[in-house]
Amino acid sequence: MKNRWLLLVGLFSILLLVASPTAAYASPFTGRKSVESSSTQFLIESPSGGGAVWSQVVLKVLIDPNVYSPSSIEVSAGRRGIDSWKTYITWFSVKDWDGNGAPDHPWLDRLSFIVYVMGVNESLLAGTADITVTYYSQISPRSALGYASLDYKRVGGQYAISYVEIALAVRGLSTVGIQNVAAHEFGHALGLGHSNKRGDLMYPAFDASTENRLVVLPSTLNLYALALTYGWLSSGVFSEYRGRLSVTLPPSHIAAAYR
Ligand SMILES: [Zn+2]
Repeated sequence: MKNRWLLLVGLFSILLLVASPTAAYASPFTGRKSVESSSTQFLIESPSGGGAVWSQVVLKVLIDPNVYSPSSIEVSAGRRGIDSWKTYITWFSVKDWDGNGAPDHPWLDRLSFIVYVMGVNESLLAGTADITVTYYSQISPRSALGYASLDYKRVGGQYAISYVEIALAVRGLSTVGIQNVAAHEFGHALGLGHSNKRGDLMYPAFDASTENRLVVLPSTLNLYALALTYGWLSSGVFSEYRGRLSVTLPPSHIAAAYR
């Protein structure tokens, strides 16, 4: 087996994918074949057994190019991967999924990310970053593409994510691949675990045969899971998500995804 690339999150999760028939993947904008009722998005479990979630709405992200130039195409690619989350969170938040005339998850759009790049504008960063993203040529194990490590803090008897360290191992990847890995790891930084849908952004591996030409974007399933996890944003009062840590789409979202 060659080209086994895996992604790691914290101390759990792992997996890979080899050159195999490409699973059809579609962005939520086109929405075709992107979801099935059996597709499941898992949530990262917090120390209290709830879903890992931030207790603030603005997340400061610091990219450390480390082995690259701050102005390199690799750094730009990683940033595109992170930015894709806000684009699709907004798209998802304003959509009327069940057709009742109003958006179903408007609160999710309150999440925002401010991205700084060391060597460019990190002097504007007041205080410390909530999420750091560091570029490496490779990490251990050698077949890993990246990992995200989450720390937690106590917030009134509950747990919230306090800091996330992301490592990207980009040697041998195209800029498309770097964008995808950065977006995948950023999904972990928001509290998402893996999904079981091949071709999905949060699937634990990418297909090596399409690595350099298939930009993978946050899916309806990824975004719906986030909307549940961040339900506290609808009231503005932090509370940890206590629902199931495996999320499937409701019929309204599946039907809409096929329209
Ligand atoms: Zn992962």
